[in-house]
Amino acid sequence: MIPLREHRDLNMNRDFEHIVIGGGISGLGMAHYSARCGVSTLVLEGEERVGGCLNSRTFPDCGDFWTEAGSHTCFNSYGHLLEILRDLGLMERLTAKKGLSYRLWRGGERGSVLFALHPLELIRSLPRLFRNTKANKGVAEFFVAGLGRRNYQDLFGPAFRGVVCQEVDDFPADLLFRRKPKRKEVMRRFTFPGGLSDIPRAITGQDALKVRTGQRVSGVSCTDDGYRVRLANGESLGSRYLTLAVPPDAAAILVPEGLEELRDLVGGIGVAEIETVVVCIPAAALGHLPPLAGLIAVDDAFYSMVSRDYLPDERYRGFAFHFRPRTLDAKTRVERICRALGIAEERIAGMSRIPNRLPALRAGHPERVRKMDALLAGGRLALTGNWFLGVSIEDCLTRSHQECERLFPG
Ligand SMILES: Cc1cc2nc3c(=O)[nH]c(=O)nc-3n(C[C@H](O)[C@H](O)[C@H](O)COP(=O)(O)OP(=O)(O)OC[C@H]3O[C@@H](n4cnc5c(N)ncnc54)[C@H](O)[C@@H]3O)c2cc1C
Repeated sequence: MIPLREHRDLNMNRDFEHIVIGGGISGLGMAHYSARCGVSTLVLEGEERVGGCLNSRTFPDCGDFWTEAGSHTCFNSYGHLLEILRDLGLMERLTAKKGLSYRLWRGGERGSVLFALHPLELIRSLPRLFRNTKANKGVAEFFVAGLGRRNYQDLFGPAFRGVVCQEVDDFPADLLFRRKPKRKEVMRRFTFPGGLSDIPRAITGQDALKVRTGQRVSGVSCTDDGYRVRLANGESLGSRYLTLAVPPDAAAILVPEGLEELRDLVGGIGVAEIETVVVCIPAAALGHLPPLAGLIAVDDAFYSMVSRDYLPDERYRGFAFHFRPRTLDAKTRVERICRALGIAEERIAGMSRIPNRLPALRAGHPERVRKMDALLAGGRLALTGNWFLGVSIEDCLTRSHQECERLFPG
């Protein structure tokens, strides 16, 4: 647990010692750490809700049943997250997820993932999976060698695409699943009674830090003793330290003048768009569909579907379909969802459309991060997000923790 120290002195010209732009888990994690160091901290979030990709969508017309529109699972290997949960007294509320299997969605039919497996090819290839190094390799290069070409094509490629919701062949193999030590005393995978949005809600709810939503930041400039942050509503705020915790395309716009090389490196990171549709269906209408973790789609308009069956509810079942961008219009997307679930459109009791975004990392990314870190060294600007160590919640918090230690050592 990080000790909560006295707030450091505030200079009269500054509104806050530290401003964090972006209220996703990276920004909130950074704010949590810095507030625990005794630094007066403000988070500015552009949307009316905090959490970013942690977004448990509630359906008020369906008795407040919720389904995750983004992130859905935390693991006992998420050490930084577990520390924050402990700080906030949330460990009691960890809720185990029921273990369920994914099904394959191929040629308009649901089937077992085992049917797509080529066992002989797998046995022949597996030694290379353990022998080869992932460093500087794309996902396709590493896993075709370690699992076999047909296994990659028919099963693992689509499964990895479903995880990061984008084309995955050139995604850095070492950033797809970063190995993290497991905390065996904690349940293996978990959520919360109100979904993963309980986490940002709890971080935001502590008195030690301030969070303002609906505050889109349009620009940042350097001052003699820190930074001036301009909001889209015309207001401006000053701080000694600044953290950008927004997606890379937004961060590139906000990197202040004088740091052009950093801006170019950040701006060179792509972003994948995902058109997520979340539906809530009466459980009675889905008697034909046994509980499942979700669907891995092979060559379809959606990458994957994630169900909420891991936390059963007597009344409703929920599903998040992650569609490729600009592939189907809204009506055809709903038809595709109904087909995948085997229901008529009238059975949909609630529906939400959510734009999601994830960084499109490419081979060589760790070298880019090293260059960015060299440019940040010794300064009072921090960068965090899901575009440093990997996209998982724990990757975000690990980066935020490192950046907080750099800005506020000791
Ligand atoms: C569909 C999906 C499923 C996933 N599943 C899992 C999972 O099961 N487990 C897991 O560990 N990870 C999962 N992830 C990954 C993980 O959820 C994300 O990588 C992580 O939550 C990203 O957090 P972040 O704070 O870096 O970015 P974001 O969540 O994108 O937050 C950035 C915030 O910055 C705000 N912002 C942007 N521009 C501005 C501006 N100019 N001014 C003010 N605010 C601004 C945005 O509104 C947003 O709230 C999933 C992601 C997706 C999309």
